[in-house]
Amino acid sequence: MPLLSGGCACGKVRYECSEKPIVQLICHCRDCQHASGAAFAATMFVPADRLDYKIETELHFYDVQAESGRTLRRNSCGECGSPISAHWPDMQGVVLLAVGGLDDQSMFQPTHEVWVSRAEAWHPFLPDTIKLDEGPTDDVVRDPLRAYFSSRQG
Ligand SMILES: [Zn+2]
Ligand SMILES: [Zn+2]
Repeated sequence: MPLLSGGCACGKVRYECSEKPIVQLICHCRDCQHASGAAFAATMFVPADRLDYKIETELHFYDVQAESGRTLRRNSCGECGSPISAHWPDMQGVVLLAVGGLDDQSMFQPTHEVWVSRAEAWHPFLPDTIKLDEGPTDDVVRDPLRAYFSSRQG
């Protein structure tokens, strides 16, 4: 049984993940607003080698320059255009899943909201998240990812 499963609106892209997410956050940056078509992006970071795609169409890839200056490669279903996931080409081991595609979105439990300085006034924040004015600090993303991958090697 996969821990996570999801896909696109037309069903031609499906995925299953056998690991629970390492990081869960909401990002209010301009780029995530464009990519999600909404006020923010809800994202789960999962290990790429625990994620299996079943793709009956082409994925469409699009590179963006994140606020951090790093390149983020986003993909969407080539048929229906649903956002699926993203990854950093310079860090292939991690995939950022778009939570809107999950079969069970109630699994999403974000700990942080980042780039709240870019958030729209008409969109409320969650009461229990830690809010950061700018991008994720090391303790939000880098440290948990490093801890996860080093624990797997042990
Ligand atoms: Zn689709
Ligand atoms: Zn963002």
